Amino acid sequence: MRKVTLIPGDGIGPEISKSVTDIFEAAGVEVEFEIENAGEKVYNETGELIPESLYKSIEKNKVALKGPITTPIGKGFRSINVYLRKKYDLYSNIRPIKTLPGIKTRYENIDLVIFRENTEGLYIGEEKFENEEQTSAIAIKRITKKGSFRIIKAAFEYAKANNLNKVTVVHKANILKITDGLFLDTAREIAKDYPGITVEEVIIDNMCMQLVMNPEKYQVIVTMNLYGDILSDLCAGLVGGLGLAPGANIGEDIAVFEAVHGSAPDIAGQNKANPLALLFTSIDMLKYLKENEKAEQIEKAVLRILEKGEVLTADLGGSATTEELTAEIIKNL
Ligand code: NAD
Repeated sequence: MRKVTLIPGDGIGPEISKSVTDIFEAAGVEVEFEIENAGEKVYNETGELIPESLYKSIEKNKVALKGPITTPIGKGFRSINVYLRKKYDLYSNIRPIKTLPGIKTRYENIDLVIFRENTEGLYIGEEKFENEEQTSAIAIKRITKKGSFRIIKAAFEYAKANNLNKVTVVHKANILKITDGLFLDTAREIAKDYPGITVEEVIIDNMCMQLVMNPEKYQVIVTMNLYGDILSDLCAGLVGGLGLAPGANIGEDIAVFEAVHGSAPDIAGQNKANPLALLFTSIDMLKYLKENEKAEQIEKAVLRILEKGEVLTADLGGSATTEELTAEIIKNL
């Protein structure tokens, strides 16, 4: 049985994680979850934000499924999520965005993937006040050739493997000539090795407009950390919202799968959360583990339910609880 670390997380995390484990069990998936937690809840219980056993489990299993984590303010970590991505050098944040059957949205036929650089950019956490009065502050954005190369290469390799013929590189090199310029130049260099793939360079502000006007024009988008973070929420909104948007953080030998959304404190503990973002995330995890048959079985069950549109959670306009939707998926397996 393949072991995978499961980090249920905070807020709605435990509810949606239970949904996934129940569905995996019902489908007979050959995965054994090793449960380790981190975040606010663990801190309140043990005084530790990330217990040592969690690191050990991830390092042993190499694959983790993670719920959203709330980082308590002023407890030594800027963000536990960002910390884990950095610690394990999970440089590719991959966020697929796809139109789903039965989900009412403004657009049809969206099928794109965002490759967001996950370890540098403005998220390195180097910011400070410049004067005693604290009326002026700066943040450092670090872009390296190595960091840019590996994420852009991953995006091109994905396009090639999936027979896609366009990669869109998103930047602001007209203003940030050195940092974004380095990212863009690296993309131009890599593009030479992929003659069959058209490279499109789009400035981030224009990209936002293009995505709300013609999102179906895009296939693979690759960009730096902050732009990727913002674009992925924007794109999640195009296909039905955060309750449906999966994601993965992938490094050289460790992968942590997590949905785009956060801990949703406004609906936590109310049996209202949509478990599908984490379920789609876990389906992608199964594909990564080459458990394609089970991945497809679960995916088909979910798509059937969405098509019918009878059992949906509140974020999708329905009235089903997390548990009712979970039971319906199990019935449809
Ligand atoms: P959020 O994603 O938690 O919530 C935004 C809105 O979307 C809320 O109205 C919420 O109810 C709704 N929503 C999110 N997921 C949903 C789901 N599965 N089903 C139904 N509705 C859903 O964003 P936020 O409120 O900005 O952040 C809350 C906390 O989560 C913060 O502490 C933040 O730091 C943390 N966070 C963690 C991660 C992560 O663990 N990777 C990511 C983003 C935010």
